[in-house]
Parts: sequence; structure tokens; C-alpha cells
Amino acid sequence: SRKFFVGGNWKCNGTGEDVKKIVTVLNQAEVPSEDVVAGQGAAAAGLRRRSAELLGAQGRRLHRRDQVPWVILGHSERRALLGESSDFVADKVAYALTQGLKVIACIGETLEQREAGTTMDVVAAQTKAIAEKISDWTNIVLAYEPVWAIGTGKVATPAQAQEVHDGLRKWLHSNVSPAVAELTRIIYGGSVNGANCKELAAQPDVDGFLVGGASLKPEFVDIIKSAT
Ligand code: 13P
Repeated sequence: SRKFFVGGNWKCNGTGEDVKKIVTVLNQAEVPSEDVVAGQGAAAAGLRRRSAELLGAQGRRLHRRDQVPWVILGHSERRALLGESSDFVADKVAYALTQGLKVIACIGETLEQREAGTTMDVVAAQTKAIAEKISDWTNIVLAYEPVWAIGTGKVATPAQAQEVHDGLRKWLHSNVSPAVAELTRIIYGGSVNGANCKELAAQPDVDGFLVGGASLKPEFVDIIKSAT
């Protein structure tokens, strides 16, 4: 079974005070045994919970670049604004793995692509680019983030998320291996909040979340606890 994974992508949002506050809230919360990482911009520092103390210690490491274990690659904001191609993203994923980093690899379709009915083709092509450049999937989490859902308040319905996650798992099964399909966490991102996380988390192929706006708010704790 796959361990629930929650990432907080703070991007450039929030002040140092906000970050301090949310780290305090996380430290005080009883969080179950999931992988939780959060951090600024492309770098996600490990708040690998378990005990309040550990969380605090790792929270303090937020500023030490050499200890950042997780990196978010392929975010749609970089694909769109900086023109990062799927090949380029895949190269970065492969390189990050060789450097001992763990990778949250983001994929997702635009609204136009969804309306054209090409969602599955788009995310499969993005995943294929990565699959061609790596062989070990142990340190990868795949984040399905529909572009139209990011920062818009328009969350995917649980059925929409499940359909794509299931499609991705089947793609991995046929094109990588049954074991990789079974073990790789596929998380959902895009307007996840404390109110909509439970129903999404209940989908069999939703293995966690990548959270933007809500990851700096106390409701991030509810999202972390939404594992079923
Ligand atoms: P929001 O949760 O703010 O929609 O952002 C999602 C995201 O971009 C996470 O990487």
C-alpha cells in the first residue's frame, strides 16, 4: 500500500512570519504517519513529521539548501511561463535523482486540452518523457495538477481526479512495470483545501496532495489528516 503524501508548495507566498506560524501549527498538530513536505518555491524542505520535535528540527532546516531532500519539478507555472518542455523537465528529474534528491514531478493539462478531450494524451506524454530518462521510480512522486485548477479555486471533482490518476497508473503498468504502477504515489494538486480534501483523498488512486494556497493556513493540517 502507498503511504499518503502531502506537499505544501509555498512558492513565493507568505512572509517569514506566515511560515513560522504554519510550522508552529504543524508542530502542535497530531499528524498521522504520512510523508509531509513543505517549502518555498522549487525547493521543498522536509517536514517529515513523526514527532513534533522532528518536525521543528526539520522546519529549521528550511534555510539550509544542502539539506533540502525534495524538489518540485515540471510545475505548470514553469512549463508555461519559462517554456520548460517535457524533455527539459525529464532531464531535470533524472539529474535531481542522480544528486540524491527526491522529486515531485508535476504534470497536467490546460483547460483547452481538457475541453478538446486530450487530457489523458497530454499527461501520458508528460509522464513518458520522464519514463524515458529514468529507471528507478523509488524517489519520485507524480503530481497531477490540472492547470485550470491551480490557484483558481476550481478544484477537480473527485471523479475527474480519480479518472486521470487511474489512467496514469494504468499507463505506468503497461509502459514501465506493474510494480512501479502499484508503488508510485500519484498525488493531486489544484485548489485543494480543508473542505474538499476528504472526498478527493477517498478516491482509490489519489495518494495525497500538492497544496499551494492552503498550505500556509491552519487547514493544511486537515489536508494532512485527510488520508483514508
Ligand atoms: P493551489 O493549491 O493554490 O491551487 O496551488 C496548487 C499548486 O500549484 C501546487 O503546486
